[in-house]
Amino acid sequence: MTQSINEVLSLTTPSPLDLFRPDWDGAETLTIYIKRDDLIHPVISGNKWRKLSSIFADTRDIPSHIVSFGGGYSNHLHALGYLCYVLNIRCTAIIRGDYSQNMTPMLSDLKHWNTDIQFVDRATYARRHDERFVHELRQQHKGALIVPEGGSASTALSGLKMMMDEISVSFDYILAPVASGATLAGIASSLPLNKKACGIAVLKGQEYLESLVSDLMPHQCDNWSVDHRFHGGGYAKKDKTLLDFCYEMREMHNIPVEPVYSGKLFFALKNKIAAGEFPAGSRIIVLHTGGLQGARN
Ligand SMILES: *Cc1c(COP(=O)(O)O)cnc(C)c1O
Repeated sequence: MTQSINEVLSLTTPSPLDLFRPDWDGAETLTIYIKRDDLIHPVISGNKWRKLSSIFADTRDIPSHIVSFGGGYSNHLHALGYLCYVLNIRCTAIIRGDYSQNMTPMLSDLKHWNTDIQFVDRATYARRHDERFVHELRQQHKGALIVPEGGSASTALSGLKMMMDEISVSFDYILAPVASGATLAGIASSLPLNKKACGIAVLKGQEYLESLVSDLMPHQCDNWSVDHRFHGGGYAKKDKTLLDFCYEMREMHNIPVEPVYSGKLFFALKNKIAAGEFPAGSRIIVLHTGGLQGARN
């Protein structure tokens, strides 16, 4: 019998669903669970696995070469580079900016996993969604699968549906961080209409994040929203309040978080609870999307 990809990669799926009982003001009337996608695998992180999983679903038919994009700390490229290394797939990573003289821990890992790393300037990187640019890449890398930044293609949604199918408790709200929007799009499109998905924007995207999410969805529904109050000034921006809060999550609640995604997510949860935004008795699921490697210096 052929092994499933989850067995080949030793993934912990279904990921745990843990009850979370913080001593926060207002939390005593709520039931909160954390969906621990951060525990799926030590390297293949949370939502990045969910978004990539459909590519590897059939182990007899996986691509021989994958090309993708990201910044110097990209959780997506880190997961992808490792997957390709383990599955013996050629991997080309197109990186925004030239880190050749100061490799990040993420890039050093990619190098170790034999990823072909190509540094490009910001103007070139800005063309990553451009049809002509993608066409040129196809010519250059014949037969390769080209995966968009963050793994955020419409094919990513089925992996999020699998995550949703793992949840067997009843709930009213599900919270997740939002950057490219694919995770929220996947959650919302497989969510029953009487439940609400709350995306927490981790970057300044007031004008466009909602359309990124809805453009990825196969059908429109209004059971989701994006909260823009908690990005803290922009992507990867962090102040002392946020860093202290991440410390509190790790030390007092034993939940590892980093300031770019999960730190902002739980900080939003705490503040939304304090503001009384969830009616008493609500049942809330918080999706921990992983990403801890990105916090290394
Ligand atoms: C990429 C990432 C996100 C954002 O997911 P999108 O699908 O791009 O919105 C959230 N959390 C972590 C840990 C990530 O690495």
